[in-house]
Amino acid sequence: MAAALGDPVRHALEAVLDAVRDRTDGAVADYIPELAKVEPEQLGAALASTHGVVHEAGDCDAEFTIQSVSKPFVFALAVDALGLDEVRRHVDLEPSGEPFNAISLDEASGRPRNPMINAGAIVMTSLMPGDTADEKFAVVLAGIERFAGRDLPVNEEVYSSEASTGDRNRALAYLTRSAGTLGAAVEVATLAYFRQCSISVNARDLAIMAATFATGGVNPLTRERVISEDAARWTTAVMTSCGMYDESGDWMVRVGLPAKSGVGGGIAAVQPGQFGIGTFSPRLDARGNSVRGVATLELLSERHGLHMLQHHGAPLSPIASLSRVEAGDADGGSDGDTVVALRGEILFSEAEEILTRLAPLVGDRGCLVLDFTAVTRVAAGARTIFSALPDTMGRLADGRSRVAVHDPDQVLGAAER
Ligand code: GLN
Repeated sequence: MAAALGDPVRHALEAVLDAVRDRTDGAVADYIPELAKVEPEQLGAALASTHGVVHEAGDCDAEFTIQSVSKPFVFALAVDALGLDEVRRHVDLEPSGEPFNAISLDEASGRPRNPMINAGAIVMTSLMPGDTADEKFAVVLAGIERFAGRDLPVNEEVYSSEASTGDRNRALAYLTRSAGTLGAAVEVATLAYFRQCSISVNARDLAIMAATFATGGVNPLTRERVISEDAARWTTAVMTSCGMYDESGDWMVRVGLPAKSGVGGGIAAVQPGQFGIGTFSPRLDARGNSVRGVATLELLSERHGLHMLQHHGAPLSPIASLSRVEAGDADGGSDGDTVVALRGEILFSEAEEILTRLAPLVGDRGCLVLDFTAVTRVAAGARTIFSALPDTMGRLADGRSRVAVHDPDQVLGAAER
């Protein structure tokens, strides 16, 4: 069966790659010789689902340097370790609308505008534990490897070139240092940052790394929790507003996936709760985003309705059925009770629907039994609404609650993943 079906998702990715392959505009990054000599025709895309399946098309094994795609992952490590408040003392979270290497610091506070541009990213790297560049980089590398689920090499040639030509980044670091936001000496922070940019990855790695944000912080292949759910959400939010530099607003309208690009030609994109996508194609547009990577994600989003704010259609009611228990029925209630079969995932709006619809049914005539057997998950925000329910509804004349809960799998009591 599987062989006959093949891999329809891979075919969908391949069809999109074929459609964008003739885009030969743009140019490979040439600020260092190692990037200028990259084979420009390479093109690959991979999609990793939150269930841990990876679909690959094109050049998914081709290695390239991660460059700025590392920034959200290091930001995630920083907020995970230090908390959002501490990180916010060092960096703002506002879109700069400026190029990645802009001198973009808030006039009053001296903080970089956001952690997705170089100034903010260097500050994030400076906050990693350790005193030396090597120690800080070791933490960065170990963290990024957990996102990718494998050991990653460093491209030493790219690193030495970055280090010997990176004076603009050093200048940014000096500015943040003088403003009091850099967490280390300039040379420590920038050398660790240059090594971070020189980590070698492929499109498949980026898909898995992005999917780790999509699951809320758990690598879907290794099943290891890499960062907290809060850190994953905060980072995805920053990618949404700032990930594509001065193209971020336009990108959100056209593609609608939180994403991060790098001058090595990679892009990592996240659809929260669903999947991560990694693309690779080295030629860049004027903003430093991969031309064919952007085109690939745009077409994928359009063809397959992947926009994060896509309208999902009329919601399925969480109330599957309502039945009166008459004498002789064995529906989980006593004679005269009403059994309400609930289903699916219950988030805030489903809880609101259930309680609003059922409130008028709570009376003197018997007990309302809420049957959670077919409910797959009750989100924390919905659970708080349910928690006070049975007691607040009072008791029947015979002492039984007006509302009872039948929850054999304890979805109401289960700890959030
Ligand atoms: N190494 C590059 C730099 O710091 C990374 C920039 C990028 O990928 N946009 O300038």
